[in-house]
Amino acid sequence: MTPEKTYDCIIVGASPGGLQAAIYLARYNRKVLIVDRGGGRTFIARRIENFLTQTSISGKELIERGIAQARSFNAEVIRGTVTNVSKTASLFSAETAAATYAAPFVIAASGGRENLPQIENLGPFFGTGFFTCVDCDGYHATGKKLLVIGDTDSTVRLAFAVSQMYTRDVTLLLYSWEPPEAYKDEFADAGIRLVIGRPRRVVGSKQVEALEMEDGSIIPCERILSDFGFTHNDEYLRSLNLRKDGRGRSFIVNHYFESSLSGLFIVGPLNTGQDQAIIAAGEGAVAAIEINHRLLEL
Ligand SMILES: Cc1cc2nc3c(=O)[nH]c(=O)nc-3n(C[C@H](O)[C@H](O)[C@H](O)COP(=O)(O)OP(=O)(O)OC[C@H]3O[C@@H](n4cnc5c(N)ncnc54)[C@H](O)[C@@H]3O)c2cc1C
Repeated sequence: MTPEKTYDCIIVGASPGGLQAAIYLARYNRKVLIVDRGGGRTFIARRIENFLTQTSISGKELIERGIAQARSFNAEVIRGTVTNVSKTASLFSAETAAATYAAPFVIAASGGRENLPQIENLGPFFGTGFFTCVDCDGYHATGKKLLVIGDTDSTVRLAFAVSQMYTRDVTLLLYSWEPPEAYKDEFADAGIRLVIGRPRRVVGSKQVEALEMEDGSIIPCERILSDFGFTHNDEYLRSLNLRKDGRGRSFIVNHYFESSLSGLFIVGPLNTGQDQAIIAAGEGAVAAIEINHRLLEL
């Protein structure tokens, strides 16, 4: 397919990182395209309280305001899914079902999608009593009866961490993974109750009251913190064979957030850094400033 339009930079994802980069580049009067398929992890966050100046803002509002701000500086924001990014000589092509776009620089800011456990009646409490990110929402467990669920060593570490930071009333639910015996004394010291089994349903109407297990037992709790991580939205980058970390999960980037392929920048939780909206936004700014320098050199 012949590229429909050429830009200075194509950004995949109207995320905090993608939008912040677009705002910088558009304010350098660069020709910027953001392709976004909608939704996203920031978009579904009910309240963000740790973003400078935003005492409490929904993710939806943050993104919608960001899109309006980027557009006000003439960044083009379109709805679509980028299915493939390729590079020939010094130009990238980004394909969507509708068209192919070209640019010397691409910023991948496409984030991830939550791995939510299959538990009945979870939806109404997502973001109020059921959380997936300790840095974002652990604070809401302060002084509460907290249930931490997951199935790995990292879930165990999470339970110890929250028992230090937020509450001494912690139950740890592991689906099947049996922690080593040595941990058990430490659970007792930290006052953490360990349960192994599978959950069926969140109990509660206005607030989380308990978790009902498949065996019919009930675990009383006021907050649930889930530790099943998220899956990266990186399918469109697969053909580029970019360098990843030792686990083969996150992309390795340099201090400008440029990947192992020159001209392709990766911001937000797709790289090896922290998963926070304000960090993604900062990374977007760094990438945009560097891209503008390179455009000046070109
Ligand atoms: C429930 C919840 C609460 C959170 N609360 C906070 C908080 O309080 N504070 C905080 O700092 N962080 C919070 N986060 C984390 C924060 O959302 C992430 O750090 C943030 O997602 C960073 O943005 P991102 O780069 O991941 O992009 P996302 O917000 O995930 O956005 C990525 C965008 O890219 C689009 N996209 C993906 N693939 C494609 C494709 N192939 N083509 C086109 N578009 C594509 C998606 O549709 C989406 O719009 C929360 C996350 C969740 C899930």
